[in-house]
Amino acid sequence: MAYASELSQTGILFRLGSMDTKRKAVVVGGGPAGLVAAGRLAAGGIETLLLEASSHLGGRAASERREGFVLNQGPHALYIGGPAMRELRAMGIELDWWQPASAASVFPRGGKPKRTLGGSAQLGRWFLGLQRTEPGELAGISTAEWLRQSLRSERARASAAALVRVTTFVADQESLSADVAATQLKIGLLPGVRYLRGGWQSLVDALAANAEASGAKLRTRAAVRALARGPEGWELALDGETLRADVLVVAAGGPDEFAKLLGEQAPAAPGPAAELSVLDLGLRRLPHRSRRFALGVDKPTYLSRHSPPDHRDGVLLSLASYVREPRAALEELADTVQPGWREQVILERFLPRMVAVSATPTPAAGGLGGRPEVDRGDGLYLAGDWVGPEGWLVDSAIASGAAAAAAALRSPLPAAA
Ligand SMILES: Cc1cc2nc3c(=O)[nH]c(=O)nc-3n(C[C@H](O)[C@H](O)[C@H](O)COP(=O)(O)OP(=O)(O)OC[C@H]3O[C@@H](n4cnc5c(N)ncnc54)[C@H](O)[C@@H]3O)c2cc1C
Repeated sequence: MAYASELSQTGILFRLGSMDTKRKAVVVGGGPAGLVAAGRLAAGGIETLLLEASSHLGGRAASERREGFVLNQGPHALYIGGPAMRELRAMGIELDWWQPASAASVFPRGGKPKRTLGGSAQLGRWFLGLQRTEPGELAGISTAEWLRQSLRSERARASAAALVRVTTFVADQESLSADVAATQLKIGLLPGVRYLRGGWQSLVDALAANAEASGAKLRTRAAVRALARGPEGWELALDGETLRADVLVVAAGGPDEFAKLLGEQAPAAPGPAAELSVLDLGLRRLPHRSRRFALGVDKPTYLSRHSPPDHRDGVLLSLASYVREPRAALEELADTVQPGWREQVILERFLPRMVAVSATPTPAAGGLGGRPEVDRGDGLYLAGDWVGPEGWLVDSAIASGAAAAAAALRSPLPAAA
């Protein structure tokens, strides 16, 4: 009997390794990072089991359906030029998407929905220069300092800061290393982003299907309580059972989750988390059809239509503040951009505290290149949105998940301790 079905059907003690010359891997966490790692490990011939604590896969990338709308956990866009798309292509995964149009944009300033961003002439020249900039060269300074040094006009600086917020999800730009901002601006403005039909659940479902097709077993309601390196490999304590693995990939979310599992072996967070507040509004129709996207310039706010353009039964707007704010702050944004929205409401959902980035790399921590390494030695690998040198947001989760699997596939069987 295959070991994962043995586990899921009987829950008996499961022993990996000692009698079997074939390596066995366990991936902890069923978000995008864990799903990619599991799929790649299984495709590489390693017997692989993924354990997810909650009742469903996807982590922060999962979506839910309500009133005919698909709601992501806050506004989610996939960067066309990022490593996630590269890895999806490599796995043969195609997703159904649409690209948000920039024509229906407003840029709230002073409580008014302005049509232009402000400081456009200087900003345009700055963007041309940005195309020639190597982001890695900016790892040692903060984004705020970079903008002060490279943009003289205050209006252009405020606009650039707003564009950094929308592409990085980080409002605290004194802490954010400038290589992150440059990386995201370069791919965020051109080639831009895609919104997914079926929400990000379609990405989660595709990654899960890919992992299963490669032979990985995916198990939900399987919280790992503790990890330890034992004589026969890694030991994983779950409720009422112990599992063993030669290859262990921890893809459990952010630094706090890693610390709970790995204790002193968990790397320190390279900087603070970036949290935001989200208000989703399902409306019968938009009071102002030509305002489908808004980027706050003097406030850290965002609004975008997240239902597909051909959705028949209403319009879903996702509003966010890139700092934690009360619901009233987001209603104020809706009043500025879509006055009259209250008469059109089908559904409302307020999420006061969402972690969009689990750790923001600071200049002192060395920017993207200073984030924790994927390969920790001894058969232990890490993956997540704060791990490895490449990418940001889900780009980083997926790139590190793929890198963890690649490193495990390259490495020989670790010697017993
Ligand atoms: C509001 C919001 C907006 C976002 N917008 C974007 C966007 O526009 N573009 C973009 O690229 N990214 C975006 N993101 C980020 C993206 O969702 C994350 O980068 C991605 O989900 C991270 O994947 P992950 O697998 O590393 O972690 P997670 O998605 O957090 O998954 C970790 C999983 O591990 C499980 N787990 C934890 N502990 C254990 C344990 N002990 N045992 C078993 N399982 C465990 C958790 O239940 C969870 O399912 C956004 C995030 C938020 C919150």
